[in-house]
Amino acid sequence: MPFQIPPPVLERLRARRLEQRQLRAARSAAGALREPTGGNFIDTIRRLFAGASSVEEVAGQYVAAMYAWQDEVEDKYDAFLLDPGMGPMAYLTSDGRVLEDLRGWDGDEIVEVGGFRAHSALIVGARNTRIVELLELIPQPPPGSSVCSRCNGERVAEPVPGFGTELPCNECDARGWIDAA
Ligand SMILES: [Zn+2]
Repeated sequence: MPFQIPPPVLERLRARRLEQRQLRAARSAAGALREPTGGNFIDTIRRLFAGASSVEEVAGQYVAAMYAWQDEVEDKYDAFLLDPGMGPMAYLTSDGRVLEDLRGWDGDEIVEVGGFRAHSALIVGARNTRIVELLELIPQPPPGSSVCSRCNGERVAEPVPGFGTELPCNECDARGWIDAA
């Protein structure tokens, strides 16, 4: 089921997309980028280890490819980038679906995701965009559900104590609550 995005949140997502696009255009104009080459992230790493190109060259090409993918997905699906990676680039569409672009990682397609992956993308997206209302798209606990004991309802937890960073909790699908047994 798609998420219901309130109109004011959609407005902020659109404003941020425009601002980010202008920043990317400025960076491209500054000449730091190379012509994008084909292939996903793993291909890029392979090219690097094959020693055929310098780190600078490959990094420049990869960033150019990410920019091109982002423009394409944003336009095609009316989508907003939530998470540039580590992992597939994840987007929220204006009609409330979460998409992962596997080209940015280890595949060659764009897939719709739900559950843990969708909630994780919203959590990371709320951090990246500072639009905290994105967290409110995650389903609220229904009557009879219980608070997740691993993340205490926070939706994020350290994978092991002392890890230093909290990651989306996979015990509760990053919702913060567990269905009634
Ligand atoms: Zn949890």
